Amino acid sequence: MICLVLTGKTIQENLNQIADNRPYIDLCELRLDYLKAEELAQASHFPSKVDLPVILTCRRKSDGGQWEENERLRVALLESALEGDFAYIDLESDLKRISLEQKAQRRGVRVIRSLHDFTGIPSDIFHRMSKIAARGEIPKVALFVASVSDLITLFRAREELKMVEEKIVIGMGDYGFPTRILYKKIGSFLTYCSPKEAAPGQITPQEMKELYRADRVNDDTKIFGVIGNPVLRSFSPVIQNKGFHEINFNAIYLPFPVDSVRAFFTLAEMLKISGFSVTVPHKQGVLPYLGKITREVKQIGSCNTVVRANNLWKGTNTDYYGFVEPLIGDLDTKKIQSALVVGAGGAARAVVWALRNHGCRVTIVNRDVKRAESLANETMSAFDSLENAPLYGAVDLIVQTTPLGMAPLEEEDPIATYALRGQQTVYELIYRPHYTPLLKRAKAKGCTLHFGLEMLVRQGKLQFEAFSGYHYPKRLESTLTLEEN
Ligand code: NDP
Repeated sequence: MICLVLTGKTIQENLNQIADNRPYIDLCELRLDYLKAEELAQASHFPSKVDLPVILTCRRKSDGGQWEENERLRVALLESALEGDFAYIDLESDLKRISLEQKAQRRGVRVIRSLHDFTGIPSDIFHRMSKIAARGEIPKVALFVASVSDLITLFRAREELKMVEEKIVIGMGDYGFPTRILYKKIGSFLTYCSPKEAAPGQITPQEMKELYRADRVNDDTKIFGVIGNPVLRSFSPVIQNKGFHEINFNAIYLPFPVDSVRAFFTLAEMLKISGFSVTVPHKQGVLPYLGKITREVKQIGSCNTVVRANNLWKGTNTDYYGFVEPLIGDLDTKKIQSALVVGAGGAARAVVWALRNHGCRVTIVNRDVKRAESLANETMSAFDSLENAPLYGAVDLIVQTTPLGMAPLEEEDPIATYALRGQQTVYELIYRPHYTPLLKRAKAKGCTLHFGLEMLVRQGKLQFEAFSGYHYPKRLESTLTLEEN
């Protein structure tokens, strides 16, 4: 079930939040701690105004809520609100008020007994949850997840608490994000969403229901994802999930913030993950764990796509193909014979190898000249310092692979003094924003432009094929745009 955490200051605001999200939610949580004092008296009438089961909660500041008044008042408010037809009441594990519990029991309200910990995962957590369940209450834990190892511990809940049918397990913070999406895989009977983030990592009900379709996950659902750090703003879940839905492929794709690649491979075995994309900073880090790699991965020394094949992890590099595809015509006809590649990092490696493999002469300019030299030596290219970029005004193609031009450096152009000619092709790898300062300049000069989004979508389509075995649905391609475009 998808539960909407109501964050309105008034009853009416909360009713509006429900109306806005009604198609995506199965129940909601009324948070007395968010309500203005003058609204609290109406809380008991709230369940009769909505067509959903309602959880009653008043969360203390120390547990991540807003309540700062005294404890006696909080309990009194909960007790008085219980006059209403709530389906559940969420009470903290250290709160023992017999009168409140008895009233809940009398009124047929199920007790969710919750434990919040913003410091980590207590070692006896499953034991504590079992004890709560033995009392007939629903155990709930909301714990801060500080690493992939912590995430593994939380995902053990399904196995360790097999006998506890109703439970809620939530991992808070970036590393805990997969627990919110894969709530069914962890054994939780609900996941929380909010119109705005009421707890770290919460997403909107619409994203949960329409982008991830988290409530449809079953034992046959194949799990895919993207690993990186940071990765929660990745566009890849949009590309992949849209494609899966369109072809009715029972699969889900989600971001996994990863601190340790080794730990992630353990998690991947545990969750039987079928494949994943790899982004910064792990494109090299995954290599030792792969049983099979393609020629490009070997050349570039980095991998952005991993799939499970005959019990081996197979690594490919779709950045390579995603980058070069739109240029192939011009490379084949020799319209493009020479290129200036700005940057010598991971993305530049794929770019330079792809250009060299298609017979293009390349000069690499980079802030750290040694790095440019090393890539140039490997690929039989030329190199120079970034400042000397204007000396290469005669090239047919310029490829920009540094982060200059995206937040927080969105005003920057790494080759600001380079005199562009209208006959040149300019290829920007940054995809947010769509127009970087360099592309704006190139557009004004009448250059042929290639956008980072183009490469991102092309490499994503190839990943989709690797993951699903099907071509990316053509109909969807025009819908793959970033919000700010
Ligand atoms: P890396 O960190 O591996 O490389 C970064 C490169 O940028 C290095 O050459 C680095 O130079 C240079 N650089 C960083 N900061 C500065 C600065 N302040 N001034 C000058 N040069 C700088 O990153 P990636 O190669 O993995 O990614 C680079 C960009 O490509 C990112 O913006 C990424 O989003 C984009 N990208 C887009 C893809 C797409 O599909 N459109 C796919 C992959 C990447 P130095 O060696 O001196 O540190």
